[in-house]
Amino acid sequence: MIKLRACRNCKNVTEEIKCEKCGGDTVLEWKGYLFILDPVRSSVGKRAGVSTSGEYAIKVR
Ligand SMILES: [Zn+2]
Repeated sequence: MIKLRACRNCKNVTEEIKCEKCGGDTVLEWKGYLFILDPVRSSVGKRAGVSTSGEYAIKVR
């Protein structure tokens, strides 16, 4: 089973140790899963501070 990680910096969910979006460190300790299709129109995306579509963690430790 692949363990998903989340970026501390931009909350991007990835399998990589380094985030492919911003180059930040990713961690295994994260909670919640967010899939943003349209961050401009999505209020959830705005609240999470997300500006590009993709998969994100809600809380990263
Ligand atoms: Zn990142």
